Formats: sequence, C-alpha cells, structure tokens
Amino acid sequence: MPAKRTPARELLFGDLWEYDPAPETAKAFIDERYGLFINGKFAAPKTKKYFDSISPRNQEKLSEIALAGAADVDAAYQAAATAFKSWSKLPGTERAKYLFRIARLLQDRAREFAVAETLDGGKPIKESRDFDVPMAAAHFFYHAGWADKLDHVTPGRTLEPLGVIGQVIPWNFPLLMLAWKIAPALAAGNTVVLKPAETTSITALKFASILQDAGLPPGVVNFVTGAGETGSAVVNHPLAAKIAFTGSTAVGKAIQRALAGTGKRLTLELGGKAANIVFEDAPLDQAVEGIINGIFFNQGHVCCAGSRLLVQESIANAVLSKLKIRLRTLRTGDPLDKNTDVGAINSKAQLTRIQDLVASGVSEGAEIYQADCKLPEKGYYFPPTLFSNVSQSHRVAREEIFGPVLSILTFRTPEEAVEKANNTHYGLSAGVWTDKGSRILKMSTELKAGVVWANTFNKFDPTSPFGGYKESGFGREGGKQGLLDYAKLQ
Ligand code: NAD
Repeated sequence: MPAKRTPARELLFGDLWEYDPAPETAKAFIDERYGLFINGKFAAPKTKKYFDSISPRNQEKLSEIALAGAADVDAAYQAAATAFKSWSKLPGTERAKYLFRIARLLQDRAREFAVAETLDGGKPIKESRDFDVPMAAAHFFYHAGWADKLDHVTPGRTLEPLGVIGQVIPWNFPLLMLAWKIAPALAAGNTVVLKPAETTSITALKFASILQDAGLPPGVVNFVTGAGETGSAVVNHPLAAKIAFTGSTAVGKAIQRALAGTGKRLTLELGGKAANIVFEDAPLDQAVEGIINGIFFNQGHVCCAGSRLLVQESIANAVLSKLKIRLRTLRTGDPLDKNTDVGAINSKAQLTRIQDLVASGVSEGAEIYQADCKLPEKGYYFPPTLFSNVSQSHRVAREEIFGPVLSILTFRTPEEAVEKANNTHYGLSAGVWTDKGSRILKMSTELKAGVVWANTFNKFDPTSPFGGYKESGFGREGGKQGLLDYAKLQ
C-alpha cells in the first residue's frame, strides 16, 4: 500500500509531490559573436581567433568569444593609459555621476542580465536575480558615493589613483566579481583592463553596452577575453600599475612570483576551505539552514563556502539527521527554473574535479550521503553530497572542492574547534553558531579567517571588506579598505 501523503512525510521524503516547471522566460539578448571591448568599441581580435561559450545547463553553444593575444592586450592597455590622463583629473563628483548611471542602467536591465548569467554560468536564476545582479549594482552605487569623498577616507591625507589596473576574475560570480573590481578602481580615478574567465565572458561583454549607454569615456574600461595565456599577458604588461586577481591559489602564487621586483601593486583573492562551527547551544534549525546555504549556494562554487562543518560531538547525530532531511528537499536541476536550488556545475572540467575528489572521499573511508535526485540528462550536474566520519587527513577535509559537497567533522571543546578550523592553508572565512555572545567574540579573534559570520553565513555587503589570510590571499575588496587598495596615500 502506498504511504499516506501527509505534510510531515512530504517534508521527510520530499518525493511525493512534484513541482510544475517554472522556467524564467525573459530573453538574455546574447550576441552570436563578441569582439574585444577596447577604447569604447567592440573590435575583432588581432589573432582572428574565437572560442565557443557553452552553457553548462544543456551544453548548447551560446556565443563565440574573441581570443585576445598579446597585441590585443597591449591595445587595451594603451587605450586605458590614454584615458587615465583625463579620467584621473575629473572631479570626483563627475566620476560619481558615471558610476551612479552604470548602477541604474544595470538595475534597468536586471532581468536580462540575470538570465544571461544563469545561461552562461549555470547558477540558479533565483540567485542571479536576487543576489548577483542586485549586489553588482549595489557595488556601483556604494562606490559612486565614495568618488567625491576621497579626501575623507583617511583624515589629513589625500588619495591618488595608481594608474591602469589589470584585473583577472574567475567564473563563479562573473558579473559580481567584475563589479567588485571595476567600481572601486574607477571611483579612485584609475582606468581598467579586465579579463573575465573563459567559461563566463558573456555578462562582462553585455556590461560593455551599459558602459557605452552610460557615456563612459572610451578607454576607461576595456575587456579582453581568453584563457590563462591572455590572463598572463594582462598580468605581465609593463603599463599595469597594479594587478587585482581573483582565482585559484595556484595561479595566484604564479602571479606573485611573476610580479616580484616589478614594483607593481598586487592584491590576491584566492581559494578557501571554510570551517562552519556549530556548538551544542546553537539554535539547530537555524544552523541547519545556515549550513545548507553555506555549502550549496551557487553549487558550492564559492571561495568562502562553508565546506567543512565542525559540529560539537554531543549534537553531531542530531545535526546529521536534520541535514539529510533538508538535503532531500533541495531541488537540483535546470538553473533557469525558478524553483531550482542547486543548478549546473560551471564546466565539464570542474565536474570532473568534483567527481575525483568525491571518489577520494569514498576511498579514504568517509561516509557518503547523497539525496536521491533526478539530474537532467544533458548539461553538467552533481547531486548535493554530505560526507560524515571525515578526518582531518582526508582530501575532502583539506582541498577546496568548489562544488556541492560538505565534509563533516566533530569536536568536543572550543579549543579543539579553533585548532581544527585553523588547521588549513587557507583563511578566507568561517562561521560560528552559538547562543553565547562571549563565545562568538572569542572565536572570531582566534579564527584565522578574513570574515567570520556569527549565526549566519554568506552575508555580503559593499560596505564590508572581504579578503583572506594565508593562502587565501591578501588585500580587501569592499568598504574603505577595498578603496585604499586602489589608491596611494599622499
Ligand atoms: P583560475 O585561477 O583557474 O582562473 C581565474 C582566472 O585566472 C581566469 O580568468 C583564468 O583565465 C585566469 N588565469 C588562468 N591562468 C592564468 C595565468 N597563468 N595568469 C593569469 N591569469 C590566469 O580559477 P578559477 O577556476 O576560474 O576560479 C576558482 C578559484 O577562484 C577558486 O579557487 C576560488 O576559491 C577562487 N575564488 C576566490 C574568490 C575570493 O574572493 N577569494 C572569489 C571567487 C573565486
């Protein structure tokens, strides 16, 4: 006899009622082919080469993207250097007007940009619609506010721009990372050559049309597209006054080596393996939501993801049972569906990396749990996964998986929690769940992480600086501190 359908059973097993499809229908307006955006115009690359941009949602080709070579990167730097002469002399009130205009134009086209971001990167539409695009606009608004107040950032000192900034960004938050990089650079009076990641160039190229509509002077922002070789040309160009890089620790280290002795400034926003620490006095249901959000937001493609859960031994079984129940209610699948919680993995290469690391977790003896979910036949997908009985030496506890995979470890005392949390090469973020305010303060001073969230996770705001310790990099983005990283003090 089939089990009786009750709300409680629905919550427990999540398998009785199916949601109807709820596809987002707005158009993304993606061009068939994009050139390079240099000196305010799109132009064919001197290499005459293009590469395909594939949607991870269904492996369909979305567009052709220009492959920039060294001569193209040089043209972008020349344009930015020429533009710097007048942009850096504009009064802050004038620069602010452009930044406000960009923010408003992005808001006007928010739905279109959200769909493009989801098609290109694979993230759920509800995240690109409610997080990525509004947050990108918020960064331009926030920095528009600073542009005419630079004399007040550090009392008694003035801020001067550095020059042309070379910026290289990853694929997990393509538009948002662009905003984090461009808005403070422009507010401080710099000009920019930016390279988006090769799997997610489309929203940057669409954003170029916003810059045109905003009337931004030619050359102030230039986009060169391509993979690592193009990135290397951006990093090593002699006209760069500073390099701002967000990406993997391995590439960050190579850039740091390449720039040593050149006098160029450098900020690095790299990988992470954050501990999300749950004490026995924490509000458990709230903590479970925070754990789920901490690791499954954007399929776990988040540098500050709470990928290591440290749970106090006395509540470990209770938390694990609650997590398993919650996992069954997560909807994994088409990112364009408004009900989807976990979308597509960004690329085939990233899917293979996740699969390899998960296989290592199983072979090293951790206990795996995956909700029984039906994945789409085409596209790159991975089911939300929990590993319990994980020990510190397991690869899944040490390496950044950058996917929807949570490793669960336990601790007995606060000292042990700190010891385990800090036992990593990384130091980007951490979470603490407890009822005790004094414990939050103590933990946040002892955890070696750039951001420590208390009774919440993955909360961002343009006013709040973000960045890492140790192999998670150095420099800050957001807030006054982020602005200072784009200026010299006089
Ligand atoms: P990646 O380092 O492979 O690539 C990042 C960017 O660097 C891409 O645009 C890529 O084309 C470019 N690149 C590759 N080789 C290069 C080279 N030799 N010289 C110059 N540029 C080069 O990283 P990824 O796989 O795109 O992104 C995932 C990584 O980014 C993760 O480790 C994640 O933690 C990190 N990340 C960090 C933050 C942060 O704020 N700390 C934010 C997002 C992502």
